[in-house]
Amino acid sequence: MKKYILSTLILVFAVLVGLVPLVNLKSIQSYYEVPTEAVVFPPLRGSQDRLAKSIQFETISQHPRMLDTATFDAFGQFLRASYPGVFDMLEVDTFSTHTYLLHWPGTEAATKNYLFIAHQDVVPVDRKSIAEWSAGPFSGDFVTDSTAGVEGWIYGRGTLDDKSALIALMETMESLSYSGFQPKEHLYFCFGQDEEIGGKAGAAVVAAHCRAKGLRFDAILDEGGIISKGSIPGLKDTPVALVGSAEKGYLSVEVTFNLAGGHSSMPNTETAITRATAFTNALNDGLFQSEFSAPLEGFITHLAPEMPWALKSVFANRFLTEPLLLNIYQQSHTGRALTNNTAVATMISSGIKDNVVPASARVVCNTRILPGTTPEDVLERYAALAAKFGGTATPYNTISSGASPTSSTEHTDFVKIGQAVKHVFPEALVSPYLTIGGTDSKNFEGLAKNTYRFLPIVLGAEEVGGIHGTNERISVDGFNKMVDFYTVMMQLWSAGKFPE
Ligand SMILES: [Zn+2]
Repeated sequence: MKKYILSTLILVFAVLVGLVPLVNLKSIQSYYEVPTEAVVFPPLRGSQDRLAKSIQFETISQHPRMLDTATFDAFGQFLRASYPGVFDMLEVDTFSTHTYLLHWPGTEAATKNYLFIAHQDVVPVDRKSIAEWSAGPFSGDFVTDSTAGVEGWIYGRGTLDDKSALIALMETMESLSYSGFQPKEHLYFCFGQDEEIGGKAGAAVVAAHCRAKGLRFDAILDEGGIISKGSIPGLKDTPVALVGSAEKGYLSVEVTFNLAGGHSSMPNTETAITRATAFTNALNDGLFQSEFSAPLEGFITHLAPEMPWALKSVFANRFLTEPLLLNIYQQSHTGRALTNNTAVATMISSGIKDNVVPASARVVCNTRILPGTTPEDVLERYAALAAKFGGTATPYNTISSGASPTSSTEHTDFVKIGQAVKHVFPEALVSPYLTIGGTDSKNFEGLAKNTYRFLPIVLGAEEVGGIHGTNERISVDGFNKMVDFYTVMMQLWSAGKFPE
């Protein structure tokens, strides 16, 4: 409460100060408004049907041992049959069992390598939710929606995450190949088989190959941010292209409480269970203070100048209003995820019998780590908090990773992403962003100068909820624009030419 009163006072003060702005926030969007000479093509005949078809392959990732070889085989055959130009013209290598690395060689003058990443696998569909789907989750059905002014939707798992990107990249390469386009720089494409379970048998194997061969990339473009509509305070009506310039890390920790148990007829007031629950409740106060990490600083410099006057003056006087701003971010779960090393209990276990006070309790917690914090820092904080309640903390499993390094948003390769956005989505603002979840690109750490995470599609809150959720869908128009974006992107990064 105290924090809230303080923040309100600061707001009043900031508004007063804002009447005479101390800092003038200047828009930097013109940076990306440089017109490009890139061209786009009408969609290839049947492109939307190929996306719909790709959804019907149930390429589900659940556990490494549960890989459905036959389905992935069939999906691979579908790609070969659908994109003869690509498989004819590019060098294709298969890794692990079903992961592909494609190479579109540049000219003799090539000095750079660029990598596009997408994944073939999808998450499973919760059976209990199937009745709520407007079309079968693996149907690839078209559903028209005249009320929303949308020509049609394609439904199913993977329409957003991430077969749309994979198929859009294929469509782009296929139509560029028909046009006789020749990239000057080398273009690579990695299509992993197990991104949804960490990428160890897919992208990580390709990354190991690149490491062994000494193949390094100037820039990588993977999934991650989207063009968000209606979710950024102060920019409700403006689409914003959120290009991930970093992604959060991952650590799970097991916290154990041991305390003499006994007969439940004469219990102590304190037990292993009360300690474990007190610890779990204390997690809500956070392990660390909230903060704006480097990618969020970029987000603020890109978007604050575009906001209405009141919000702009709050951002312009950050030296006064920082606590207020952080407070605003704590009001939503995305805001908290962007500004915190999140900490949440995900598994809890204790007890063996209803009339026995257990001698131990175990809580497993998961943290997504901000750039600037290390997994060791996080473990240390867990240990300190656990100690307060008489517990001990150890890493839970081997799947842990620090946050990625933050890529440059001043580099020309980032500017080109912004230019491609403005080319295809002229009404959108461009901004760096912090990717909250993990992507296959983390497996390529150390192999690229810059790594960007962005899926070129405009999504409102409802569509975002479909990712890993119910009614995942893409509009046909949205898919066509993805192809346009990649068409421009490949021309800009590869500096290639069409035949005279
Ligand atoms: Zn994905």
